[in-house]
Amino acid sequence: MPELPDIAIYLEALERRILGAEITGLRIASPFLVRSVDPPIKSAVGHRVESLRRIGKRIVIGLDGELFLVLHLMIAGRLQWAGAGAPLPGKKGLAALDFDTGTLILTEMGSKKRASLHLVCGAAALDEHDPGGVEPLEVDRDGFAAALQAENHTLKRALTDPHLFSGIGNAYSDEILHAAKLSPIALSQRLNEDEITRLFEATRSTLLAWIERGRTEVGDRWPTKVSAFRAAMAAHGKYGKPCPVCATPIQRIVHAANETNYCPRCQTGGKLLADRALSQVLKSDWPKTIDELERKRGSP
Ligand SMILES: [Zn+2]
Repeated sequence: MPELPDIAIYLEALERRILGAEITGLRIASPFLVRSVDPPIKSAVGHRVESLRRIGKRIVIGLDGELFLVLHLMIAGRLQWAGAGAPLPGKKGLAALDFDTGTLILTEMGSKKRASLHLVCGAAALDEHDPGGVEPLEVDRDGFAAALQAENHTLKRALTDPHLFSGIGNAYSDEILHAAKLSPIALSQRLNEDEITRLFEATRSTLLAWIERGRTEVGDRWPTKVSAFRAAMAAHGKYGKPCPVCATPIQRIVHAANETNYCPRCQTGGKLLADRALSQVLKSDWPKTIDELERKRGSP
């Protein structure tokens, strides 16, 4: 799933292409994509792009007239940029947003169509799409600590909970915890002050480094290699590969649909967490569905 650094790079590429541009057409190929009815999605046509921002893992295209297109790519959704009026690619093409500057094409691989697009009117309606987590690159150390320790969760769960932190998912949480040298199953309310500071700093440095890496890679081009698995990652997706710090093979805890990767020497004092009991600890601290995790909480 595209996370904060990936969305940041998409937003920068979009700014260069559609900020100030007019939506001249909307082509929706998938009946599952559009999840809002009022205002009708087609009413976005004729409006100009005034702002681009991220809310959690969503891309928000702000239009004149207080309209906002809210796009959630979920796991397999991606964006492509093509010439004006470019055709939608066969099976994976979900929609095309035509601008006077070119066409933004939304694709989704696989048969599960989970990416979503909403058109909402007004700031209050937009706020409904915000799960409410703090922005990890804007919050200070104490604000970070407050969010982290608001509830007692494993660090893996706390970092990836969109109600606590905005934009961090399975991939970057593995990288952050590796950089912080903290166990994914350490409990947030048990961390000491030094560990909290280390986690705060690792969160910032990891996200900033990946944004910078993305910028360098993409330049003025369109980001085409958005993936949760990157060669330069230290732990995520690296099961069995040597830790770049200590060369110990990276381990994993398998839970639900994905897995947590960690270095047993750097992060858990040499302990392997991959046994059944410990994997149960992480599992029981995990929401049952991604929808449950993404849904906005009613009240704190
Ligand atoms: Zn290591």
